[in-house]
Amino acid sequence: MSKKSDIYIAILEIFKKNKSALLVAEITDLLLQNNLKPNKSSIYRAILKLEQNGLLNEVDSISGAKRYELVDLDHQHHHLICKNCNKLVCIDLEDKLISIIANIEQKTKFKVQTGRVDFYGICGECGS
Ligand SMILES: [Zn+2]
Ligand SMILES: [Zn+2]
Repeated sequence: MSKKSDIYIAILEIFKKNKSALLVAEITDLLLQNNLKPNKSSIYRAILKLEQNGLLNEVDSISGAKRYELVDLDHQHHHLICKNCNKLVCIDLEDKLISIIANIEQKTKFKVQTGRVDFYGICGECGS
């Protein structure tokens, strides 16, 4: 097994274990904990490959800090992102969104296949 595919698999394993959105810096730290010391460009290449293979999604952050998470086709979810501390929380809006989407489809005749809503604001800790 080549070193490149080691990193690819190690990153995939990290996401499977963590099940949350991770910054590239966090991914790098977790790779180091697994005794892997890849350089930045090989980490970015592995992430890009994972994205191209439909395994990772880039999660938008207005701070410009790139964050990624595992694609979970069975369980669509959405995000709350704090504009102050940049914390990201995954939320489940399943029931409510289904009725909103049904409404949109009815009005526009657009068939929604996939989508995600990111809400930006101030988290409880930053707001208090
Ligand atoms: Zn905050
Ligand atoms: Zn998420």
